[in-house]
Amino acid sequence: MIDFEFEPQVIERLKLYHTIAEQMMRPISREYDEREHEKPWQFFETMWSAAGAAAEFQPGGREKKEGAGVGARARNLYTIATTEELTWGDAGLFLSIPNAGLGGAAIAAAGTPEQKQRFLGPFRGGKPKWGAMAITEPGCGSDSAAITTTAVRDGDEWVINGTKIFCTSGQMAAEKSEGFIVVWATLDKSAGRAGIKSFVVPHGTPGMTVVRVENKLGIRASDTAMIVFDNCRVPFDHILGSPEINRERGFKDVMATFDATRPIVAAMAIGVGRAALDFVRDFLNQQKIAIRYGAGLYRLTAAERDFIEMEVQLKAARLLTWRAAWMLDAGRQNSLEASMAKAKAGLAVTQITQKAIELLGPLGYSRRMLLEKWMRDAKINDIFEGTQQINLLIVARRILGYSSRELS
Ligand SMILES: Cc1cc2nc3c(=O)[nH]c(=O)nc-3n(C[C@H](O)[C@H](O)[C@H](O)COP(=O)(O)OP(=O)(O)OC[C@H]3O[C@@H](n4cnc5c(N)ncnc54)[C@H](O)[C@@H]3O)c2cc1C
Repeated sequence: MIDFEFEPQVIERLKLYHTIAEQMMRPISREYDEREHEKPWQFFETMWSAAGAAAEFQPGGREKKEGAGVGARARNLYTIATTEELTWGDAGLFLSIPNAGLGGAAIAAAGTPEQKQRFLGPFRGGKPKWGAMAITEPGCGSDSAAITTTAVRDGDEWVINGTKIFCTSGQMAAEKSEGFIVVWATLDKSAGRAGIKSFVVPHGTPGMTVVRVENKLGIRASDTAMIVFDNCRVPFDHILGSPEINRERGFKDVMATFDATRPIVAAMAIGVGRAALDFVRDFLNQQKIAIRYGAGLYRLTAAERDFIEMEVQLKAARLLTWRAAWMLDAGRQNSLEASMAKAKAGLAVTQITQKAIELLGPLGYSRRMLLEKWMRDAKINDIFEGTQQINLLIVARRILGYSSRELS
């Protein structure tokens, strides 16, 4: 039976994150939106040491970690609930908090127990670390099967060559911490999807160079890097999953990552949408406009109808997202639900933030308030971890029983 009930200590933890979002993130939100490539080190230090937060955002894949601390029995559900709280504070800052991120999710989904311990365990000196995931290339985004980056075995090492773009936290993971980047590369182009494997490249590995950091529309506190791999060598046991090419299985191992990460991106969208909704509610309250929930449709004002519609969209997205995370915690296959949640939440947040600006008029558009920033921060949730269109395509394939070849 589906159960979204949190233990009391988890609820306390979520309250703590809400306080952090309100009192530490919101006050510096505008500043780090404007100073795009600078980092709020003081905030990172606090998050790292006081809350021990980084470890908590690590998705646990399908594993149950009984007794591993707060939220252990519902680890993914807990991760998305904390994600919502912190992105309510600021999505860009949330993404930049030192943690294993999408790279960690890939290791959790496809790594061996020994690799999980080695790459996701405590880092030397307890220093902040970042993890990143490099899939996208100049010639391939949605169609990740078209990857051209290569990994060639040379004795007991892999030699990686290729260019990756738009890598979230790529600069921090490659250069500024004891971090790592999980890189998707093909072992054999002629094997198609089955030839694609992922490799852990630790920070500072020779041959891995950050060549550009993007200037962006939104989530500007988060770095997005272009990284070149030029004869970059990693040990043989840095491959995640089997080195064998299994044409039957395709690239199911590497794709498993998305089952854990899509609900997190959906939760990010919900956090931003909730921020906008709360802002509008407060504004309407100041104007002495209360939402009359029980009133008949024909009695409601246009503003009330719009507000209720925004709330409905947000709640629907949240329920789908919580279900996808709950299934992961229960060890159930959730690819369909993860894509549903991601598609719904990405669309909902773009609509909610735009409608919020519309309702507040010039005040919403002004940089005096954060609404215009939230509208810019919202759109990325409809792009990374599979665009809106791609996630809808996955949902359609799974419901109708088509393969990616039959419906593309
Ligand atoms: C800020 C930011 C951070 C990112 N972080 C990362 C990261 O950490 N790691 C990483 O690997 N990548 C990352 N990305 C890249 C992101 O995942 C890709 O941009 C995304 O997958 C889309 O790929 P593309 O840009 O090549 O667009 P394309 O694949 O060229 O698509 C262009 C448009 O066509 C649509 N489209 C494509 N194929 C179909 C189809 N079959 N049917 C219908 N519509 C279709 C798409 O939905 C999209 O609207 C990031 C991107 C941004 C902007």
